[in-house]
Amino acid sequence: MTGTRTTMGHNKYTGDLRAVTHYRAGNVEINIAKHSGYCWGVDRAYEQTVATAKSKDGPVFTFGPLIHNPQTIESLKNEFGVDYINSVEELTKPEGATVIIRTHGVPPEMQEQFKAKGAEVIDATCPYVRVTQNYAQLLHKQKYHVVIIGDPKHPEVISILAYAKGEGTVIQSMDDLHRIPKNKRRLGIVVQSTLILKKVNEIVNALLARAQEVRVFNTICYVTTERQEDAETIAKYNDHVIVIGGHASSNTKKLAIVAESYGAKAQLVESPEDIDFDELKDAKRIGILAGASTPNWLIDKARDALIAHFSGQPVTA
Ligand code: SF4
Repeated sequence: MTGTRTTMGHNKYTGDLRAVTHYRAGNVEINIAKHSGYCWGVDRAYEQTVATAKSKDGPVFTFGPLIHNPQTIESLKNEFGVDYINSVEELTKPEGATVIIRTHGVPPEMQEQFKAKGAEVIDATCPYVRVTQNYAQLLHKQKYHVVIIGDPKHPEVISILAYAKGEGTVIQSMDDLHRIPKNKRRLGIVVQSTLILKKVNEIVNALLARAQEVRVFNTICYVTTERQEDAETIAKYNDHVIVIGGHASSNTKKLAIVAESYGAKAQLVESPEDIDFDELKDAKRIGILAGASTPNWLIDKARDALIAHFSGQPVTA
């Protein structure tokens, strides 16, 4: 790279041992969090999709966009012919077609509906989400009133609720507590994978006062925890933080919230072209965070755009 210094090592600023990649461009330091880009579950689903597209003669669809990243969706379509559908009805020519279930999962009956139409179904539900679906099913069978802490519109939450036969209550914030029926004395709680633990604790504590028995499965994914810890580390050291990821990505939005809660100014961008350089004009240290569905090449592109801007020289290698 022209005009830059690149090092890789332990995070010498906070004293913890997580590696952060450091760059310098002009007077500005750029620091990329270690846990950035595709998580294990997204990587697995992407690889399954590409392998399926390569091996099948018939059309391959994902149910909904495979991940919350528009560039990846575009490349799946252009390079591998994989498009997405948003409902069972949209699959108008099911014979010989394959439908891939994305990491968020779907209600079990939906898989059956695709199969009944004659399509093959490949289930790429993240195994961690599958565990949460199983807990919801178990709690429902054991006569707990299932409470899902999460966003009621998020596909992951919709799929989990379906495993409780649709008979649970979704709580997104403290304002929703009144939605739990008053006669329910045994509550079984599961959590959307991308939530912030502090917020979940607050809701669980409030629920403890409302029931005789409360059973809680902490189903926040370890990937989420790692990235939110990184967001804290990065936000404490840097004055500005760029969070790269899709606007529809729950975990990406949470990273921006965590970074701002530690005092950094955060910009959530889908691509380097969205970076507001005016906001960075006084920046001395810029941190980069990326959601679990952000490809590495996009992180590299954002880094290079920052380096080119602050060094005044193009990045050549
Ligand atoms: S963030 Fe966690 S639950 Fe979600 S896809 Fe990645 S590994 Fe699975």
